[in-house]
Amino acid sequence: MLRYLIRVEGGRSLSLLLLGALAGWLLGSVRLGALFGLTLILFIHLYHAGQLLAWLQAPKKRELPDGVGIWRDIFQLSLDRHKQARKRKKRLGAIVREFRASTTALPDAAVVLDRSGCIVWYNQAAVSLLALRGQPDIGLRINNLLRHPDFHSYFGQSDAQDRGVEIPAPSDSESTLWIRVIPYGDGQRLLIARDVTELKRLEVSRRDFVANASHELRTPLTVLRGYLDMMGEESSEAGQLSSWKNPIEEMRRQSARMQRIIADLLRLANLESGSGFADSTVLDMPALIGAALEEAEHLSGGQHRIESEVDDSLQLQGEQADLHSVVSNLLSNALRYTPPGGQIRLRWQRDGGQALLSVQDTGIGIAARDIPRLTERFYRADVARSRETGGTGLGLAIVKHALERHEAVLTIHSQPGRGSEFICRFPAHRMSDNSRVAVAG
Ligand code: ADP
Repeated sequence: MLRYLIRVEGGRSLSLLLLGALAGWLLGSVRLGALFGLTLILFIHLYHAGQLLAWLQAPKKRELPDGVGIWRDIFQLSLDRHKQARKRKKRLGAIVREFRASTTALPDAAVVLDRSGCIVWYNQAAVSLLALRGQPDIGLRINNLLRHPDFHSYFGQSDAQDRGVEIPAPSDSESTLWIRVIPYGDGQRLLIARDVTELKRLEVSRRDFVANASHELRTPLTVLRGYLDMMGEESSEAGQLSSWKNPIEEMRRQSARMQRIIADLLRLANLESGSGFADSTVLDMPALIGAALEEAEHLSGGQHRIESEVDDSLQLQGEQADLHSVVSNLLSNALRYTPPGGQIRLRWQRDGGQALLSVQDTGIGIAARDIPRLTERFYRADVARSRETGGTGLGLAIVKHALERHEAVLTIHSQPGRGSEFICRFPAHRMSDNSRVAVAG
């Protein structure tokens, strides 16, 4: 840097100083002459600094002169930087304009929230979908504007935010919004809201259709079943229909299966039409599990070893019928897919702040590719065995829906030939306050 300064400035400053001193010597005072030279150098620098300052204050109105010495380089560099900054500004401006245009065209509402849940920015759709009022709502807490209790409980639970929540639209209670909050950056969150009214309507009509069709089928099937039972009695050795014994037995089996399918379809429709989340009634889970275990012992008829490890102090807030479906479906599956001599183990305990229900068996197991699809209606990994054991293909779909209503998650671990484990994890806030940790000894 010093060399550069000497190269571009040294020669001219020294010449001015010497010229001043020479003029001073001719006029009788070398000192005064040198002082004049120095003043001239200072003046040149001040002049250029003044030019730069004036240009920096209004770069659009003024032009920078060429400048001399070191000032030529300073002016050139300043001009280059200024041009680069303008280019970058233009580019950023275009990006922001594009972003604004695309978020305005977006049919979904998008709201940026800061770490305390206050609104920082939102797009046009948020005005109509969430009934925001424009500038006055910036800085307000989102849960002061969206007051639905389901949204409040969803917004308060950071572990549930992946799932999203459905609430009536604040602007029109006939419409339904699906809202999801996505955390990002340093505690900020992005709230997305989508109008799912039409989707909901379709879903409701599909559900009603299945429920109505099942209802309609139930009565004729009960009549058929009644006659088949009567024919069954007549098909005994001495009866009039003894030659029809086998077909009648098969018809009775199939009609019983149809009745089970209809009962399961109705159970699913009930689960789907119930309010989003299950009640918070405190249930005696150990008693419920005890009753399901007794049923399982009866079903097994002593062919399996059934073990259990139940925390008697652990209660749960939820709905009896739903949770009974969960426990009995998992146990009945474990029995049906475990050959005689196998072992079944049920655990109900605390685990990492959550309540855990696990049903493990040493049965036939499930291939990895089937596991993600098991909770789909009528999906069967082992079709033959399912039919043979009276399965409806709806058990795990019922389990999944019942668990969802309790904000619980189902995980399945399995290996073909080695057995399976179905684990249900219930969130901490569903564990009853009355539950006490059992003290050993
Ligand atoms: P199903 O009435 O056919 O048992 P489910 O919905 O209860 O219907 O289960 C779906 C499928 O998952 C079953 O058909 C079976 O192939 C598989 N499955 C469920 N539980 C087990 C288990 N414990 N062991 C092995 N396979 C199982």
